[in-house]
Amino acid sequence: NRQFRLAQRPEGLPKPTDWDFVTEAVGQPGDDEILVGIEYISLDPAMRGWMNAGRSYIKPVKIGEVMRAGTAGTVLKSNHPDFAEGDSVTGNFGVQTHAVVAGKDARKVDTALAPLPAYLGVLGMPGMTAYFGLLDVGGAKADDTVMVSAAPGAVGALVGQIAKQKGCRVVGIAGGAEKCSYVVDELGFDAAIDYKNESVYKGMKQHCPGGIDVFFDNVGGEILDSALANLAFKGRVVICGAISQYNATDGMYAPKNYMSLLVNRARMEGFVVFDYADRYAEGAQAMAGWIAEGKLKHKEDIVAGFENFPDTLLKLFSGSNFGKLVLKVDAD
Ligand code: NDP
Repeated sequence: NRQFRLAQRPEGLPKPTDWDFVTEAVGQPGDDEILVGIEYISLDPAMRGWMNAGRSYIKPVKIGEVMRAGTAGTVLKSNHPDFAEGDSVTGNFGVQTHAVVAGKDARKVDTALAPLPAYLGVLGMPGMTAYFGLLDVGGAKADDTVMVSAAPGAVGALVGQIAKQKGCRVVGIAGGAEKCSYVVDELGFDAAIDYKNESVYKGMKQHCPGGIDVFFDNVGGEILDSALANLAFKGRVVICGAISQYNATDGMYAPKNYMSLLVNRARMEGFVVFDYADRYAEGAQAMAGWIAEGKLKHKEDIVAGFENFPDTLLKLFSGSNFGKLVLKVDAD
């Protein structure tokens, strides 16, 4: 069993020395446990936060512990009545090639409906984040102008497409011309702002003349500040993430334009997708329905090679991923 364990807490961007690469014997399942051969590992911006000490919505990964991660794979041995050898499963089994887990911590998935990596993206955690964040927290409805940052990414691409399903006008923020044309031409957004090459503030003014009704924020920092300055009356700002700030070493950028919330009788609210766990079936059914109707596109960016984990994770913070970033475990 190959593993990446947290060696030390990073300062800024994680370095190779923040990880220990460990090989140990594959464990054997006890009563009500299963042995999973992990095939795909979900690489998520949240992992950076889990590496930090301090209070958060979930306990930090301890030094010496296998790094926490969402995973998908196949049951190799089962001592649990609900699982048989060969079943496809997902769960938070960590950055390792094999895991012995309690059956109750695994979820069986149907690879006839969608390929395994999709259960780490559109039919998994990012999909649920987009669905509940936009509709429940953001309250997006027909004719709203919805803006989403990190628009071509795992969450953002789905947010924009769900908003289109609901009859909203959708503007995305993305880094570079290729990603901007992707969200407009492939995903059907109404417009995109290239934050790397144009003024986000001016782009918002241009594309949202009536203001932003729902800002679904994945990025934080100055982009959030510009959106606050461009809110519509009764606007909703959904704080999904702040990836531009996750590696900050001298404090996070604090938005200056928050008085716009008062002026516009607007609301800013954060959320954690795990709080919707008892409604995932509803979200997954809606997403699967849209996929089947050809109304929801999803893209996975799959990088091969378990050993490439440290470098691959960094792609999220440079924007060199294009779609839901997944690490494919190579055979032993
Ligand atoms: P993505 O697939 O969107 O990948 C991250 C993207 O962020 C990059 O591709 C890049 O896009 C963009 N980015 C990185 N650094 C910056 C920066 N400095 N400024 C602007 N954009 C940047 O990741 P996910 O869809 O998985 O996650 C998106 C967000 O959602 C994250 O903030 C994450 O923490 C959050 N999240 C929150 C959850 C919750 O429960 N609240 C659950 C899941 C995710 P580009 O090329 O356009 O620069």
